[in-house]
Amino acid sequence: MRFVFTLFAFFLVSYLASSQYLEKTIESFEQHFQIALFIDSMEVINHGITPVEKRSKMGNVTVIVDGDSFIPQRKDTVLYQYIDFLSAELSKYPEKYLQNIGLEAIALGAELFVGKTKRGGIPNHQTNTILYEASYAMLYDEAYMANVIHHELHHFAEQTLEKRERYFKKWEKINPPKFKYGYGGIMQYDPRYQNVDFASYNHPKEGFVSNYAMTGAEEDRAMIVSLIMNERERAELLKWLPSDQLLQKKVKLAIEMLNTLSGTSENYWTEVMTGYQ
Ligand SMILES: [Zn+2]
Repeated sequence: MRFVFTLFAFFLVSYLASSQYLEKTIESFEQHFQIALFIDSMEVINHGITPVEKRSKMGNVTVIVDGDSFIPQRKDTVLYQYIDFLSAELSKYPEKYLQNIGLEAIALGAELFVGKTKRGGIPNHQTNTILYEASYAMLYDEAYMANVIHHELHHFAEQTLEKRERYFKKWEKINPPKFKYGYGGIMQYDPRYQNVDFASYNHPKEGFVSNYAMTGAEEDRAMIVSLIMNERERAELLKWLPSDQLLQKKVKLAIEMLNTLSGTSENYWTEVMTGYQ
């Protein structure tokens, strides 16, 4: 009996200690970046994002409701470690960048859905929030995790970019004559294109780092920005740059857009690029 009590006390103490630690981790993240960090469904619901989970008692089937959906995750070490990882990636941006782009909150969940498709990240403009999947076990592919963070952050940022139509037109003009984008990132879920490799940086055409970049201008831009920001994958961009003038122009324009977004006078983004070359 005494043993059971001791065991219970041990788990209670370690549970309290870990939940306190999580609270502290979240608090310092929020203070540092001046944005809210949500990990619970109620916080997400109160912020205006559709909750997800409805499990039937029979068979435990998850019913996904329409809209951006969020399944919370366990408050375990995976979550702490993800917060640390996210924090390191966001720290690469100039100070106040997140405020400049109007980001108010980040929600971290085990699984995210847009309608019925599972996503690694969702920019939710209605609530000025980005949702990220944070349930990656550590030692998972860091390059991919960082890619998702910067890619979705850039989708979000473009909504607040001043004179964005002008930038977007300039971007389209860089492409080869007669080139037309596809109908957006959603193409990767289209069974008609199931044999297309959307994942590799295979430089399928001058001006494009991957097939995915050709699905839509917004994906093309988000991919280039995430390669600029993610040193783990930057070589995939740098290796094509010397021989591809269209890509050079896109990188230059992406950096111009980032400078406008961050309000940086010195060329912070060029330094980021050259620092790793
Ligand atoms: Zn995208």
